[in-house]
Parts: sequence; structure tokens; C-alpha cells
Amino acid sequence: MTSPAIPAPPAWALVVHGGSGQMRRAAIASGQDAAYRAELAAALAAGAAILAAGGGAVDAVAAAVRTLEDDPLFNAGRGAVFTAEGRIEHDAAIMDGQTRAAGAIAGVTRTRNPVDLARAVMAHSPHVLLAREGADIFSLEMGLPQAEPGWFRVEERWQALQAMKAAAARGESVFDKALKYGTVGAVARDAAGHLAAATSTGGLTGKRWGRIGDSPLIGAGTWADDRAVAISATGSGEDFIRLAAAHEIGARVRMLGETPQDAADIVVQHELKAADGDGGIIFVGADGSCGWSFNTPGMFRGCVTASTKPLVAIYDDEG
Ligand code: ASP
Repeated sequence: MTSPAIPAPPAWALVVHGGSGQMRRAAIASGQDAAYRAELAAALAAGAAILAAGGGAVDAVAAAVRTLEDDPLFNAGRGAVFTAEGRIEHDAAIMDGQTRAAGAIAGVTRTRNPVDLARAVMAHSPHVLLAREGADIFSLEMGLPQAEPGWFRVEERWQALQAMKAAAARGESVFDKALKYGTVGAVARDAAGHLAAATSTGGLTGKRWGRIGDSPLIGAGTWADDRAVAISATGSGEDFIRLAAAHEIGARVRMLGETPQDAADIVVQHELKAADGDGGIIFVGADGSCGWSFNTPGMFRGCVTASTKPLVAIYDDEG
């Protein structure tokens, strides 16, 4: 009798995104293009350093997202978009695929790195999702670094709100799908084969009435399950919520035996499109695969694995 084959230890992998939307070469100045790529590479480096040293997937996605939150180029943390009232309200989530523990926050205003608050909800509260003033209080109780509203403010985002208000005054559509999104996210598989996902965003410019998107909703914009996939989404959040898009991809992998790429393509290229939704997702699979699927002209994205060099891309004709 021979002993069963011992499977090779899964190699680690990390994928990041910085939002999807109307990124076209003509619309992004070359200096800005380079700046986006450099920041995506920095996020990959932050997470890869952890994974290459044998660290866990949860630590890696938190580090990658924190890097992107700190950069004002992206709509998360510093550089988040403004609500109709001129406030900044952050949403974020993190999920551990090994235990399916999850933490999320919505509408928080003072935590310097919203992903760290989501992680504190997962690690130090009996809850999954905390919102608004209560979440701000929890952040203080956790001793997380705080920032004044001005620290998050970026002039370009303020001007985007003014442009939206002017458009609304002319009777034009307020939530124009031609806008680019800028949510950030990361998914990872560590060397032990465990998966994790994290997503962070300011949501949509001009959001009102305490609107919450898909990013902090487990199963919609963020999902991790060691049996199938880890997913982080970006795009028209309401559509991802209606489809439970991230969970749907995982369910297809788990119950239909589809590859993560096929499942992602069906949900993003067919189901999301049929719902008139736009955006994309990044994934890592329990099967060792990793990648993305998006139905917009571009998505800020990057990936690195134990055996491949970092790759960053923006437009739909690359990588
Ligand atoms: N999905 C995010 C939301 O709806 C927006 C984005 O991806 O930029 O809040």
C-alpha cells in the first residue's frame, strides 16, 4: 500500500485593486499613470513582504489596503470622496477565509486607517458590522490612530462634489456611471493555503441619507472562504449588493466546481452586466489561481505570487 501523495504546499499570492471605471489612456496624464502604478506596486510590496516571510493572508491584505488608504490618489482613507453634505464617511471590511470571521465598518469619520477598524471589529468585538457614531466610539476605545476630517481631504475630490452639485442643478444624473471609482482592495492566499480579503472606500461622491455600498457588506463586495475564493469588488455598489456578487462567485466555485476565473467572469461579465452594473473584482482561489474580472474600460490592479514578479495594470488591454 502506498501512502497518499502529499500535496505541494500552496504558493502564496496577492492581488490588489484601486478601483474600476472609465480609465482610458487619453484620460490619464502620463505622470498620473506612473503615480498610480507606483502606488499599486507599493501595496503589492507591503503585502508580499509579509507573505514571503511566511506571514498570514489577513496581515497581508490589511497591509496592502493600508498602503492604498494612505495614498490620496485613491478613494479610501486619505483621498476619500465627499458626501452630499461635504463630509467624508469611510466603509471597509476584512474577512478571514480560514474561520470566515469578518469585521466591517460603515460611515466612520475619524479613523486614520478604516481597514484597521474593520479588523478590530473582527478581532475584538462580538459583531461583524458597526456603523457611524458607534463605530467611531469603538475606534477610540480600541486606541486606533485618529485623524481630523481635514487630513482626509483632497481638493480634487472636493471639486468632484462641486461638479456633481452643478450637474444636479442642471437636472443631470447625479450618480453618473461614467465616473471612475477608486475603492481599494486586496485578496491573498498565504503559504499555509489560507485566504483573506479586505476592501476600503469612501463610497460614491455625493452619497446621501447614510448610503452604504457593497464594500463593507460581507458577501457583496468582500468575501473570503478557504474552500473556494477570496474576493474584493469595486464598482456600482448597489448592483453588487443585489447580486451578493462576491459570495455568488464563491458559491459557484464551491457548488458548481467552476474555476474562480470562470465563476468571476460569469458574475461580472454576464450577471452584473445584465443588471446594468459596472465594475470588477479581484480573486485568489483555493486552487492556486489568482486574477481579476472587470467590465469597465479599466481597473487599477496588480498581482504578485511566490513565483511571479509584481505586475501592475490599468487599462483593459494590459496584463
Ligand atoms: N463599490 C463602491 C461603493 O459602491 C464604490 C467603488 O467601488 O468605488 O461604495
